[in-house]
Amino acid sequence: MKTLKAMLGMTALAAVSLIAVSASAQTYPERTITMVVPFSAGGPTDTVARLVAESMSKDLGQQVVVENVGGAGGTLGAGRVAQAEADGYTVLLHHIGMATSATLYRKLAYDTLNAFEYVGLVTEVPMTIVARKDFEPTDIKSLIDYVKANKDKVTVANAGIGAASHLCGMMFMSAIETPLVTVPYKGTGPAMTDLLGGQVDIMCDQTTNTTKQIKGGTIKAYAVTSPERLPVLPDVPTAIESGLADFQVGIWHGVYAPKGTPTEAVERLSKSLQVALKDENVVARFAELGTEPSSQEDATPAALKAKLESEIARWKPVIEAAGQYAD
Ligand code: ASP
Repeated sequence: MKTLKAMLGMTALAAVSLIAVSASAQTYPERTITMVVPFSAGGPTDTVARLVAESMSKDLGQQVVVENVGGAGGTLGAGRVAQAEADGYTVLLHHIGMATSATLYRKLAYDTLNAFEYVGLVTEVPMTIVARKDFEPTDIKSLIDYVKANKDKVTVANAGIGAASHLCGMMFMSAIETPLVTVPYKGTGPAMTDLLGGQVDIMCDQTTNTTKQIKGGTIKAYAVTSPERLPVLPDVPTAIESGLADFQVGIWHGVYAPKGTPTEAVERLSKSLQVALKDENVVARFAELGTEPSSQEDATPAALKAKLESEIARWKPVIEAAGQYAD
């Protein structure tokens, strides 16, 4: 039988460890957090990340600094975070490519479903089919006719295999049953520079990168991939109303941390993400960019986990049917 003294000792020990746990939860974060964006600076994912990071910095009382690790359709940056110290000071903001690359890549440096902790969903961004300003076709119908007649000449920019622009470009080519010449970049930030400069013809990219240019008339827009027209781009028809049946895709973004990151840190990050998604400035800037923040229920670890799992299952057969993989 335990003596009273021993029992008291155990209680004291338990109390001390409880204090230690809550102290570490309360003191996190104690220094700068790095948010890896797996695409170039100035692109759509970077834009979303910087808005969210700025707001989270205020809430967390520590800087959340964006680091761009572009290349290989987002898989390089994701790999970097998978291998980072699981201490709550490195996170990843990635999009739908996290799900598609799990099937698209024969080899990945990480096991998608087992390499991360989930923080929460951020936003779901529509895509736009756009072209350089002086590209001949005036609407989606003439675009389809033109690219079919000039399939060896027309160039399509994307951010590498696994990027949203790659996925949307593939959907377009498969809808019109015409393969086109693709030009990969480390992100659609630099791809947009080339589209503006006329070095590349067309691109399917997120509204977070194209809205300003479409409104400014510096690029041409043919269609949006949302179910309805967007309030911010009322003159741009949906792909579906333009005759591309089922051509609908939303680019959902989520925040992840390396597997093994302490639960207290993941929970704190998730709370902070929820605060950021209610921030008036974030809501207003997202609206200007043609998107909106995820709901508070979706900005949670459970919602992001469920989304990633269901999206891997959704895209696997589509990618397998296309039969195009990356090594
Ligand atoms: N989201 C990528 C970027 O930020 C582009 C893409 O996914 O196509 O550049």
